[in-house]
Amino acid sequence: MGENKKSLVVLGAGESGVGAAILAHAKGMEVFVSDFGTIAPHYRKMLDDENIQWEQGKHSMERILAADEIVKSPGIAPTTPVMKAVIEKGIPVISEIEFAGRYTDAKMVCITGSNGKTTTTLLTYHILKNAGLNVGLAGNVGKSLALQVLREHHDVYVIELSSFQLENMYQFKANIAVILNITPDHLDRYDYRMQNYVNAKFRIIQNLTARDAIIYWQDDPVIQSQLKQVCTEAQLLPFAEHENDEFTSAFVDEHNDIVFSTENGRFSVPRSSLSLHGLHNLYNSMAAGLSACLLDIKKEDIRCALSDFEGVEHRLEFVADVDGVRYINDSKATNVNSCWYALESMPHNTVLILGGKDKGNDYSEIEDLVKEKVKAIVCMGKDNNKLMEFFSGKVPTIRSTHSLDEAIAACRELSVPGDTVLLSPCCASFDLFHSYEERGAMFKDAVKSLIGK
Ligand code: ADP
Repeated sequence: MGENKKSLVVLGAGESGVGAAILAHAKGMEVFVSDFGTIAPHYRKMLDDENIQWEQGKHSMERILAADEIVKSPGIAPTTPVMKAVIEKGIPVISEIEFAGRYTDAKMVCITGSNGKTTTTLLTYHILKNAGLNVGLAGNVGKSLALQVLREHHDVYVIELSSFQLENMYQFKANIAVILNITPDHLDRYDYRMQNYVNAKFRIIQNLTARDAIIYWQDDPVIQSQLKQVCTEAQLLPFAEHENDEFTSAFVDEHNDIVFSTENGRFSVPRSSLSLHGLHNLYNSMAAGLSACLLDIKKEDIRCALSDFEGVEHRLEFVADVDGVRYINDSKATNVNSCWYALESMPHNTVLILGGKDKGNDYSEIEDLVKEKVKAIVCMGKDNNKLMEFFSGKVPTIRSTHSLDEAIAACRELSVPGDTVLLSPCCASFDLFHSYEERGAMFKDAVKSLIGK
């Protein structure tokens, strides 16, 4: 019978790949998992427990190219040798979300954007869960959608979708698609062409019908112009800080209340009651609130959940007050736009730690805010030349450091009581750290070790 089995190869054995492999195996497919790096021990064990074949540290091309279909981890670029060969052979490549979506009828709330995805996804999940829905969390956060579809059977999923995941999605259909914002990011993966990146993001609305909805930031020029070009039957629910001449579904009124206005009714929430601060989090809260409205969550439940959400690690996370200086960890700010929003919510006299692996950044976007709010920049990266060149002369002080310890020592020296030290690096972490999580965790440890010194 083996000959008739569909053969599925999974490239990349992280959370999503392992989940997809287990789901495929349960559905009777012939599964092979291949990872060019090292597979984490607990994922190896999960595969072994299901008798799924895997390899690590190499790609056995013959076996991979014999697949009927390939599930690719979003981290593997289409330009890698293995993907070039797969594309040349014409084997269909899909993402784990696309694959898992075939095996569920659950409602899908899908969230994308250049910044704010994780925060909005977790906030939306928090609202729905607290309201008693049988809801799962998937995508870039939480467990793989595939495993949840197989084992947990939720009625609704809140899914964070990056452009990399969206690239390999075709038939998958969201019920609610949220597009928070689109600013340049990851352009190195898109031939440095913004439109390619925009197109990937907009795949989130493909297959939407008149019964589905798109929630989006009305004042984003990129979203606006792209929406004009695409054809969609879906309901449009825009949010904005201020009500627009055109219809706005969520906005702040003259009493500083957030008004939510949908076909399911109209109600308001005092802006001051939101647990997440800053303009960017107003948008994230509006997007999450609108999704909840569409799912018929009671307004009391929405109000309550928007005010008691605890926030997310490494996103404008307060670390400690050391000798009168506030330290804030925004390690997740891996692009210029997210740093802009971080600075926007900072006081004056901020010491800003920038740097890491530059993804083709244009720092002019934060230049004005830096001039207004930053008293010193501490560059922390292997190669700080671009930052040093751009910001020299634009701030009173700029230092180049090449390790976290050096950077913290510089911040300590440059700050006085009343100042804020903000790690919001604009860059990926891979030059000095394994991940933004590691960078943030090490920053927090280093700051805490200063207490009492
Ligand atoms: P993502 O998952 O899209 O990377 P996160 O929720 O992890 O987004 O937030 C990453 C960083 O982006 C945060 O540290 C914050 O500074 C910034 N940010 C969050 N929400 C927004 C938003 N709506 N617009 C712009 N920047 C944002």
